[in-house]
Amino acid sequence: MLRTFCTLVVLAAFLASPAQEYDAWFYPGTLRIDYFRSGNAKEHRVTLDKLILEGEWAGPRDGLITPFSYGEYRVEVWDTATASLLYAQGFSTLFREWQTTAEARTLDRSFRESVRIPYPMHPVQLRLLHRQGGTGWAPDFVTDIDPRAPDIMLEQRQPFLTTDIHVGGPASSCLDLAIVAEGYALHEMEKFLRDAHRFADYLFATRPYNEYRDHINIRAVHSISAESGTDFPHEGIWKRTLMNSRFFTFGSERYLTTDDYHSLMDVAANVPWDQVLVLVNSKEYGGGGIYNHYLVCTSDHSLSDFVFVHELGHSLAGLADEYYTSSTAYESFYDLRLEPWEPNITTLVDFGSKWQDLILDGTPVPTPDKADYARVTGVFEGAGYAEKGIYRPFQDCTMKSASMDNFCPVCLRAIRRMMESYTEKR
Ligand SMILES: [Zn+2]
Repeated sequence: MLRTFCTLVVLAAFLASPAQEYDAWFYPGTLRIDYFRSGNAKEHRVTLDKLILEGEWAGPRDGLITPFSYGEYRVEVWDTATASLLYAQGFSTLFREWQTTAEARTLDRSFRESVRIPYPMHPVQLRLLHRQGGTGWAPDFVTDIDPRAPDIMLEQRQPFLTTDIHVGGPASSCLDLAIVAEGYALHEMEKFLRDAHRFADYLFATRPYNEYRDHINIRAVHSISAESGTDFPHEGIWKRTLMNSRFFTFGSERYLTTDDYHSLMDVAANVPWDQVLVLVNSKEYGGGGIYNHYLVCTSDHSLSDFVFVHELGHSLAGLADEYYTSSTAYESFYDLRLEPWEPNITTLVDFGSKWQDLILDGTPVPTPDKADYARVTGVFEGAGYAEKGIYRPFQDCTMKSASMDNFCPVCLRAIRRMMESYTEKR
């Protein structure tokens, strides 16, 4: 009888609508897995740190296996009893960027990372994989998870007040953006709230986000730092802030990030979230954004609005930088023998998988960078930190220069596709 019942449950899961499928396999909560990724330019390994129960699962419940093959890494959840894939998502991390710096050729380092998955009802196998040879995936770490294990932490580690800045709908059918305060002291919380509202306004002033007001939630976490500001290591300035953000990442003056990822996760856990913005209380120009990892930007520079939507392009839609002239610490960031996974650059190795369908007849490929082709979707050489061998779709774009509300047609399409994956109702 029991066996018949189990069989029925499995069959029902296949027959059920996707949202019902979620209810068959997962609780409404979130399971966070903290780990360390250690290594150098050539190799790396993953070691487990801890598991934590977090609040409501903010992601879509009807698209648990990502339709996008984006990111340098991938997390998969397999049901142990039936060996079926229940959940898959791509992401990138700061470690992967560090691997392309000169330092990684001579030094081993560890970076803190986390993945978050819907909380499983039954024992599952967690698999962390890295991209191999362009389109393949190789395992880094595989472990069994018993969702009833007593060492899964149930405590909220960094409770803070929160404010709903904009609510479009339920978390399961919206993009949920968490804005966490970094480098705001206790007396600056009113400023933080004003800043968070201003950043929400920036988002809704930008295409295509202005088309999705009813499918975006923005919540602010009033996370209090001991000191105001952030770290400027190249100037000897260090501030005691909650998430240890700093400029001068990998020796690049304007690159503002945090490598204290587990502290950031503790703070973000105060609200349901899909994307997290670390809003750094500073007037300087800088920021960073990594696909399904985080975006960081400063609050009060005259270009903060641009930095925000540019970095969200990275963290939400997996967009690449379309510029090639600025100095970065990376050495050969992209392998020209492979098609990069980012939707808005190409090496022409597999252009059919990119924006070939948007090129009008008569547009030369590659496309000359001349006035005749201004505002034309083409294939312009120079993108992804390389002057040669990597191509972008448009002469200018918010992913190329400091210009607001200026995403090119290919980036607009990529963002819309990503937004639909968060908002789709079947
Ligand atoms: Zn673009």
